[in-house]
Amino acid sequence: MGKDCCACEHKTLLPIEEAISQLNSAAKIIWRTQTLKLQEAHNRILATDLCSPLNVPPHDNSAMDGYAVNSKDLASENEIKRPVSQRINAGASGETPLLPGTVARIFTGAPIPPQADAVIMQERSRREGDHVFLQGPVERGRNIRKAGEDIAQNDIILNKGQVLTPQRLGLAASIGLEQIKVYAKPKVAILCTGDELINPGTKLQPGQIYNSNRFTMRALLEALDCEVLDRGIVRDTHAETKAALVDAADQADLVVTSGGVSVGEEDHVRNVIEELGQLDLWRLNIKPGKPLAFGSYHDTPVIGLPGNPVSVFITFAIIARPFILKMKGASDLRTLTARAIAGFDWPKAQKRREFLRVRLDENSHLSSYPHQGSGVLRSVAWADGLAIARENQTFAKGDLVEYLPFSGLLG
Ligand code: AMP
Ligand code: MG
Repeated sequence: MGKDCCACEHKTLLPIEEAISQLNSAAKIIWRTQTLKLQEAHNRILATDLCSPLNVPPHDNSAMDGYAVNSKDLASENEIKRPVSQRINAGASGETPLLPGTVARIFTGAPIPPQADAVIMQERSRREGDHVFLQGPVERGRNIRKAGEDIAQNDIILNKGQVLTPQRLGLAASIGLEQIKVYAKPKVAILCTGDELINPGTKLQPGQIYNSNRFTMRALLEALDCEVLDRGIVRDTHAETKAALVDAADQADLVVTSGGVSVGEEDHVRNVIEELGQLDLWRLNIKPGKPLAFGSYHDTPVIGLPGNPVSVFITFAIIARPFILKMKGASDLRTLTARAIAGFDWPKAQKRREFLRVRLDENSHLSSYPHQGSGVLRSVAWADGLAIARENQTFAKGDLVEYLPFSGLLG
């Protein structure tokens, strides 16, 4: 795959947009669906369009506590005294017509009775026994929420592929749905390669480090609502890597690995993907995270993330996340970027696109973590987002730069 000398290396690195687009073409939607109760469907992806069988609200109703009137009866600017002929609470059927020359006491959400066409708010009234003094005039429709104002019968209220956010669950409930059809969670197997790795809970021996990627990857996948099959640590041998990948690919919809994708003799993941199935891409124009690999085995896609803990987080967020969203059936695959003011200089143009760990302050200024190394996990733990320094871009303090808040990347 090309030469590795410094001067021409970047030419062999795949631009990020191309990588995302290749992965997008390769991603197949999980067609398995399931029907869930609404209360179990938070964050899931809707598997059908939702059509409303009814109007919401179902009837004209009052937007205020006050008095339902006939506007023709209150045409003048004077204060007018009227008898209160009925009282309509929220939940009442509201079927009794308003008697001519009278008004009805009414509460927010209560149905407007026939013959009434406006509501005067309580603050503009003065009650005296069975009568009320109301200040005219009032125009027709005032303080009335019309039937179907939110949703009309047969409206498509949500589309297949939309994420069921709290507000969309509320919307689905408002048309009376008790259950909802969603895509099944993709099963994603994770494995962490490295002879040096041990899991927390065991005493470190010389040469060992704790397996942090396992926890980062697992939580990133859970935030995307995937079912995680944790396949543990895989030793740096060809045989063990192969066996682990085959086994994982047989059981999962996607395999995500960490480490072992670089150019060293102990990096087996890329070679094994190539040998077993198909290696579609390797090495991206991204910093950190260059050696990402993507391929498949027996139709199961394999994403080989780099080993460095910061690279894992960033390549997952930028490259793996949109792929997984597509697999999940989501229609919105965008990584939304905001703009914020650089609080630091970026004077030297770089060949690779860099994702810098930054924090946004209340004045929209970004500060960057002082150590941006790909092994400095504290940088991502400290940051609330990433600033993008594009290929060959420079910027100075005060310039607007692209900013990816973590809130938009974790889910
Ligand atoms: P590799 O890509 O396998 O050469 O790994 C690159 C760097 O990331 C090495 O310093 C590894 O020790 C480190 N690393 C790899 N996997 C993990 C892991 N699961 N947890 C923490 N660090 C890791
Ligand atoms: Mg390794």
